[in-house]
Amino acid sequence: MDQRIAVGVLGATGSVGQRFVSLLDEHPWFRVTEVAASKRSAGKPYSEAAQWLQSSPLPEAVADLTVREVGASMDTPIVFSALSASVAGEVEEEMAGQGHLVISNARSHRMDPDVPLLIPEVNPDHLALVDRQRWNGGGIITNPNCSTIGIALALKPLHDAFGVRALHAVTLQAVSGAGLPGVPSVEMLDNAIPYIPGEEDKIERETGKILGDLTSAGVEAAAIEVSAQCNRVPVVDGHLAAVSVGLKGGSELDAAELGRILAEFSGEPQDLGLPTAPARPIHVLSGEADPQPRRHRDLEGGMAVSVGRLRPCPILGWRFVVLSHNTIRGAAGGAILCGELALARGLVPGVSGTWPSAS
Ligand code: NAP
Repeated sequence: MDQRIAVGVLGATGSVGQRFVSLLDEHPWFRVTEVAASKRSAGKPYSEAAQWLQSSPLPEAVADLTVREVGASMDTPIVFSALSASVAGEVEEEMAGQGHLVISNARSHRMDPDVPLLIPEVNPDHLALVDRQRWNGGGIITNPNCSTIGIALALKPLHDAFGVRALHAVTLQAVSGAGLPGVPSVEMLDNAIPYIPGEEDKIERETGKILGDLTSAGVEAAAIEVSAQCNRVPVVDGHLAAVSVGLKGGSELDAAELGRILAEFSGEPQDLGLPTAPARPIHVLSGEADPQPRRHRDLEGGMAVSVGRLRPCPILGWRFVVLSHNTIRGAAGGAILCGELALARGLVPGVSGTWPSAS
């Protein structure tokens, strides 16, 4: 008998929803039993409703599931949400109120004071907020913005070692970040677009919460001045961020020592051996033109971020380039890792047992 925990995916037909379906195929702890999307898709078999764009085949176990309309009740204790923010806020609250643990990629609840904005290697202690939430039995955990995840992961070991005081980030973001059907090819080919609505604000607000301290009153945001500029570029998957960082200490270090601090970083997912955790969350690359989306976005199944071009910055102190896979580490894969950590911590409603040893 299949002992895995049944999970549902909201927004299963979209860019991130398809990643969930693909990554959860043959997952050792979870299996997709319910998929939901808009009225347009509801009632159709998943294989017909989703315009499948993943490089792996559409999983057989999901192909024949009938897509439900978002808002219909679901039976799974965990619901992964890849909904457009236009609908996510209300729907996710309803699902949490019905006793589900909702793990969301949408921006709607990220900055709520009682909702963790979770990167499992960075701020696993923030999961304690779930116990303080207003929903009876259920809960909401959010995954940060796709560019912010890569940046915050790379900042974490530096913040722990020295304290980060300032960050300037310029991103080059892939088209899959714009969802489906995406940016029209006539706008994107032979071009770069120096504007992504709302994106700069997300990086500037979310970084402090992720790296902040959990207190009895909620998360006290880390005092980091952040300036972000975001650009869409004709890359399919993988967001690059060229960052300059001001640290409160560490001026005596050289680039090799700083690189070692980044490369040696690991967290609770690695200690627990969670199934989706990369062995090394940060890969420091030494090639003079690395990292590059096409060559490095799939490191450790897309769950590791890569850092290169680490060198002194004449303005803020240090600078480097960080690359993360936006729909894997930056969305579905990151959210699945959040689900694994929540399960290991006993936070999934109605599910008991010891994980990971139960796998
Ligand atoms: P997407 O491709 O546009 O997919 C949106 C999904 O939401 C589809 O399944 C769609 O269903 C459903 N939906 C849209 N409007 C709806 C409505 N009115 N009622 C019910 N369902 C509705 O978007 P995406 O890129 O996957 O992004 C999903 C979420 O993740 C967004 O909140 C986004 O900001 C966030 N996110 C995206 C990325 C990324 O790299 N793409 C990264 C991190 C976070 P139909 O197919 O039936 O229309």
